[in-house]
Amino acid sequence: MQFITREFLKEKPAKGAELGFGKYFTDYMFTMKYREGRGWYDGKIEPNVPQRFDLAANVLHYGQGVFEGMKAFLQPDGRIAIFRPDENWARMNRSAERLCIPRFSAETAEKGVEILLDAERSWFPTDPGTSMYIRPAIVATKAALGVHASSEYLFFVLLSPTGNYFKHGLAPLRLIVETTYARAAVGGTGEAKCIGNYAASLLAGKRAEEQGFDQVIWLDSAEKKYVEEAGSMNMFFVIGDEVVTPALNGSILPGITRKSCLQILRDGGYRVSERRISAEEVAEAAESGKLREAFGTGTAAVIAPVGTIRYLGKDYTVGGGKIGEIAQTLFDTVTGIQSGRLPDPYGWRKYIK
Ligand SMILES: *Cc1c(COP(=O)(O)O)cnc(C)c1O
Repeated sequence: MQFITREFLKEKPAKGAELGFGKYFTDYMFTMKYREGRGWYDGKIEPNVPQRFDLAANVLHYGQGVFEGMKAFLQPDGRIAIFRPDENWARMNRSAERLCIPRFSAETAEKGVEILLDAERSWFPTDPGTSMYIRPAIVATKAALGVHASSEYLFFVLLSPTGNYFKHGLAPLRLIVETTYARAAVGGTGEAKCIGNYAASLLAGKRAEEQGFDQVIWLDSAEKKYVEEAGSMNMFFVIGDEVVTPALNGSILPGITRKSCLQILRDGGYRVSERRISAEEVAEAAESGKLREAFGTGTAAVIAPVGTIRYLGKDYTVGGGKIGEIAQTLFDTVTGIQSGRLPDPYGWRKYIK
């Protein structure tokens, strides 16, 4: 694979700096191109510098683009391990298919990322809870204003050193159930990590913040009854002795953290249901004291406990504003496997060679 070196390296964030999420990017990126008739070609590592685009590029007008998010962790023995990358590549190809973007080789992408991670070893944060966030994306680059699938694409992978989400202690989220806007509809693009979904979610998120909430709980678009997700996380509830997460219905993004949590819970002997769950059921469970926990799952936070849910103007408190036992167990198990603190019975750590 070609490796184009850059003349000047960037300044790295100071030791102990607030890394936050998605603020810093490393020196290099992995890229490859696609042209109709040729397929994917020219995979290489090159300097991550601002790019020039034709402003007629399809992605800038019609949003033909998909992305992914995963993390790599520095292990106690100095090796680097990525958490379940095969799942992300498979999902990215499914997202691509939905957006009429040509499939790519997961092996080529994985090889590119492994070479990139190895080259950017000096950018790895070392504090507990930190990681290297990996952001692959594919965008349609052909300059053409007809509403058609592009004949040219750019695939790229950026690396972003990321801080400990819960460094300042864990403040449970305040969520408001969104009853006006919908994130996605069955038959739409909700199952795909497609860029347009996120633009469409911004207004509801902004209104929630203006009212003092962290994010919205999305309901199904048809009946505005059933819980789908929270912001851009999957949602779990503990009601009595049942752990419930909305069943994948075509408009919910199939999270890899969700899938990992389901496996850990089932193997831990918990009663787990993937089913429809209405906002009303959640409110009633909260009222009767049966709602023991609520939390979101996703790559960025892993587990984000929920302390308050507002539904139809009424606030419901969950778990006394503290992280619940099941959320804590899941957090410890997933982050333990990711960081190498715990054994990896499922083979979720993929070590780079
Ligand atoms: C990425 C994403 C998730 C979480 O998926 P993970 O694979 O667990 O990171 C959930 N919902 C939406 C809408 C997402 O984009």
